[in-house]
Amino acid sequence: MTKAISYAAHDPKKPLAPFSFERRDVGAGDVAIEILYCGVCHSDLHQARDEWGNSTFPLVPGHEIVGRVTQVGNAVTKFKVGDLAGVGCMVDACGTCPDCNQGLEQYCNHTVFTYNSLDKHTGNPTYGGYSNLIVVDQRFTLKIPENLELAAVAPLLCAGITTYSPLRHWKIGKGHKVGVVGLGGLGHMAIKFSHAFGAHTVLFTTSPGKAEDARRLGADEVVISKNPEELQAHLQSFDFILNTVAAPHNLDQFMPLLKRDGTMCLVGVPDSPHPSPSIANLIFKRRSLAGSLIGGIRETQEMLDFCAEHNITSDIELIPIQEINRAFERMLRSDVKYRFVIDIASLKQAA
Ligand code: NAP
Ligand code: ZN
Repeated sequence: MTKAISYAAHDPKKPLAPFSFERRDVGAGDVAIEILYCGVCHSDLHQARDEWGNSTFPLVPGHEIVGRVTQVGNAVTKFKVGDLAGVGCMVDACGTCPDCNQGLEQYCNHTVFTYNSLDKHTGNPTYGGYSNLIVVDQRFTLKIPENLELAAVAPLLCAGITTYSPLRHWKIGKGHKVGVVGLGGLGHMAIKFSHAFGAHTVLFTTSPGKAEDARRLGADEVVISKNPEELQAHLQSFDFILNTVAAPHNLDQFMPLLKRDGTMCLVGVPDSPHPSPSIANLIFKRRSLAGSLIGGIRETQEMLDFCAEHNITSDIELIPIQEINRAFERMLRSDVKYRFVIDIASLKQAA
């Protein structure tokens, strides 16, 4: 066992604070990673505050992890000491079900998440990336391109794959009109990917001040979703809408904007249900309301390689870990441009 240092939520109502724990020994198929950067996902905040009702404490958040391999087990073939490596939202799954067999481990009934799950090896809670090291099975460890800015790669491990995967699943490309709802961590990656895939991309935002950034990120049009007449101008015109909003809201603002057979896919996970949609908005144009969860390991690697080839990273604000509680508050105010990333070197000062 190796001692790790971290920041943890000890109680849903208290700020995150320093916490020490042990990482498991490096098994035959494992890699040990010195964590260099970890992104701050809204899911970290939801779970640190027990907004989904399933958190166990202490809880060390963080599932957008990049770092360097410091040790490998004797059966490891994918990595050697010194390689860059990444870890996203999952660290294990059953490995034998149809979902696992198709590379869709996120849909396995036995997925072990990077934190707030139970480690299959030890039976202990899993702890995430707001920490200085992690031990992960090589099968759940991603190869990180060397040509991209490392801190800005971290958010690809969750915000990146969570938006890439549905855009690929619904085969988005040239000739499509795609809406992205919400310009935060997920939303800004959705704009970049939708634009890179050649779709006409429209941002729906509640923050007029983000319009210029959205265009720079690749949006062709920006709609202020608080203005009904702006929404009305896009009636029945979208092939696909990716909704990334982290709070309950009226989905019937967006459903009528879909064409016949169009789909709105939800990826946001609010703490209480949306009050909609109306049945009429679904049946009269045979529209679909769908959902999507992160992406499998194979597709996450494909996404990272796509980003390396197209020079895509996240737009980040790098923070020391001591700023994490302030960053959570800013994220709640939709004031993040467009992902906080923790410089894990700052943890040493906290230890
Ligand atoms: P984020 O950075 O906080 O972005 C969310 C954005 O939603 C905000 O920037 C804001 O954009 C908009 N928004 C916030 N409150 C709103 C409200 N009341 N009404 C309308 N719009 C609102 O969060 P994130 O990290 O991108 O995560 C978004 C959600 O996805 C979270 O619920 C998270 O847990 C979930 N998530 C799901 C998956 C998955 O696999 N499905 C993976 C990761 C995260 P504007 O200012 O532009 O309006
Ligand atoms: Zn996440």
